[in-house]
Amino acid sequence: MTSAGRFAPSPSGELHVGNLRTAILAWLFARSTGREFLLRVEDLDRARAGSEAGQLRDLQAVGVTWDGDVVRQTARGPLYARAIAMLEQEGLTYECFCTRREIQEAASAPHAPQGAYPGTCRNLERAELEFKRSTRPAALRLRADAAEFTVHDVLHGEFTGVVDDLVLRRNDGVTAYNLAVVVDDAAQGIDQVVRGDDLLPSTPRQAYLASLLNIPVPEYAHVPLVVNRDGARLAKRDGAVTLADLASAGVDAARVRDTILDSLGLPAGPLANALASFDPRSLPMEPWMWPGMPGTGA
Ligand code: GLU
Repeated sequence: MTSAGRFAPSPSGELHVGNLRTAILAWLFARSTGREFLLRVEDLDRARAGSEAGQLRDLQAVGVTWDGDVVRQTARGPLYARAIAMLEQEGLTYECFCTRREIQEAASAPHAPQGAYPGTCRNLERAELEFKRSTRPAALRLRADAAEFTVHDVLHGEFTGVVDDLVLRRNDGVTAYNLAVVVDDAAQGIDQVVRGDDLLPSTPRQAYLASLLNIPVPEYAHVPLVVNRDGARLAKRDGAVTLADLASAGVDAARVRDTILDSLGLPAGPLANALASFDPRSLPMEPWMWPGMPGTGA
């Protein structure tokens, strides 16, 4: 089995400089440790026609290349079904009929653990279960027996976060992201996960799920996000932040790449030039703002 890192974009639109910075970092982490680098399109949800091709083009334009074929989650249903069946056989799942609103209401009760599913459907009586089955389709949840789990992150050290009865399969039949990501990383031989630090809080859930599936937990590195001038995670509505927008403003892909490398304290030029000086321990850990953001004076 290979040892690999990866980038796993959701094809929900164009990539922006924040996504490109994370992709460059993931590439540097993998290549500087002799790993393969894989690309997985997370198209179970939020896929928009045409956006995958544009994303792959933009990644290549800033020098992010990958090994082998692109993997798409929509082609991997049987793999997810096998993992879910294994959990079902071990009695580690249950059907959940809650609506989003019911969950929000229950989760905002005074003693509910923050962000955790309150367990409403965990122990339904037979008759209640039958009745609920006749009212709406069920999602499938994990019957977790831990309330928190600790992971090790190369950049954040030990991180302990909430584990709850997370959704494995949504009530529309689509595999949930937390299950798919764990199964895919393992099946693809990915032992290094580099992604935005907005996903750090979900990581203990994923690592816990991996442990239940007898899957080795990968090495994690959650990298700082690119933010807008309000300090919020960058979004496309924040201005000229995609390669296409920037190209119309006269900023080509090589300059975007070099600006990102500069923000990481790395030399300009093809990404391979930065490998020798890339050291995760000296990465800036603060959120970064694209210098051309309106209002920054740049
Ligand atoms: N597909 C997710 C995203 O684009 C990334 C998930 C991951 O890297 O684990 O936000």
